[in-house]
Amino acid sequence: MRSLDNPLILREIIMDHYQNPRNHGIKDDDSYLKTNMNSETCIDNIDVEAKFDGDKIEDVRFDGEACAISTASTSIMTELVKGKSVEEARKIMENYHNMIYEKPYDEDILEEAIAFKNTHKQANRIKCATIGWNALDTLINEHEKEEKEGK
Ligand code: ZN
Repeated sequence: MRSLDNPLILREIIMDHYQNPRNHGIKDDDSYLKTNMNSETCIDNIDVEAKFDGDKIEDVRFDGEACAISTASTSIMTELVKGKSVEEARKIMENYHNMIYEKPYDEDILEEAIAFKNTHKQANRIKCATIGWNALDTLINEHEKEEKEGK
């Protein structure tokens, strides 16, 4: 059995990111795009912001009220996409989405995000495990729209 199939290790990854969230805290800076996401089924109410340089994601940060699952999944997301191109981030997002919805995915690309591989067994947690990722998707779309409009 590989270690990543061990539910205890997956849980440890989640608890580590919950207790020590990475890229936590919003910067009051106009060069960031910001979005808010909330959930009707959980306490989650988070702000996610990203700073782009052309098609590169220079920085991603988040803050707000959030449960363990949404905090950890958003923290891991920020680590995975920070410094990547928009195209690479989209590929990671797509694989994460596939994993959550039980479709084939690339484990290597997801790194610690595979801690959420069993989320489909708790359907009420899917929203929590995807809220930060959906925020990133929104920010990328917003950024691309602005680029197109030549802002
Ligand atoms: Zn939640």
